[in-house]
Amino acid sequence: MRFQTLLKCGALPAVLFLTAIAGCSTNPATGQKQLNWISTEKENSLGAEAAPKFVEQYGGDIPSESIHKYINDLGHRLAAVSERPDLDWEFHAVDSAVINAFALPGGKVFVTRGLMKELTSEAQLAGVLGHEVGHVTAQHIGQQMTRAIIITGIGVGIGVAGEQSDEDWLTVLGVGTSVGGGLYMLSYGRNQETQSDELGLRYMTHLGYNPIGQVQVMKVLKRASGGNGRGMEFLATHPYPDTRIKHLNQIIREQYPDYKDPQKYRVYRDRYQRTVLAELKRLPKPGHDPQSQPDG
Ligand SMILES: [Zn+2]
Repeated sequence: MRFQTLLKCGALPAVLFLTAIAGCSTNPATGQKQLNWISTEKENSLGAEAAPKFVEQYGGDIPSESIHKYINDLGHRLAAVSERPDLDWEFHAVDSAVINAFALPGGKVFVTRGLMKELTSEAQLAGVLGHEVGHVTAQHIGQQMTRAIIITGIGVGIGVAGEQSDEDWLTVLGVGTSVGGGLYMLSYGRNQETQSDELGLRYMTHLGYNPIGQVQVMKVLKRASGGNGRGMEFLATHPYPDTRIKHLNQIIREQYPDYKDPQKYRVYRDRYQRTVLAELKRLPKPGHDPQSQPDG
């Protein structure tokens, strides 16, 4: 039997059954049953513990007040129309040349300078952030952590006693701990990526952004990973670009057939060029990464 199937609520080994029942809940964003032992409170504290490590690992926040304000404004607007507006949301544009975006528990969302530089419009950035917000609202991280707890057989000890510090949790689960010189992030399954893509579309279109921005992001990432492999870090945590492009196009055709209507859906190319791309060209290139090329 596949492990995936074993993890369906109520189909667990007997020793974990009672604990599992307590952690079986309905997901606020997808409406599906889920197995998640990580409470919102725990999510917030784990995110608060891990976020500064990831900021440091990725070269610190980009030293630009206008970019900081821009990404937080957009991110918080997306979070506000999500199913979990009350988390301790934070949005970081970090000064690293690698191409990546990810979310930590509790709504700590990261986008790298390397990825921002590849984008050409605010609708595309809304697609990236909306997708990451989707991982948080669909509680994928809590579900992945719950799986990790079960796989490592530490479920009863760590899951119920709760005496470990947040740092202990993250260390045991391997999130935010150093692996091969870089911080490790849990990666997601195909269904979780698809769910986040759909949720990202929901949030961005709710704010009037053209959903095609999401497809363009996937194409940008696919192209970026083809030549010199610089995009591999993103694709390691967000795999299946071809399947996702196909699925996104299908959803857009079905649910947003009027996506070409410029009155209804906006792209904001100029504002992105002005606020992000022009500003990135002005700033010194990321200093900590000897591999990085000058921007522009
Ligand atoms: Zn993802």
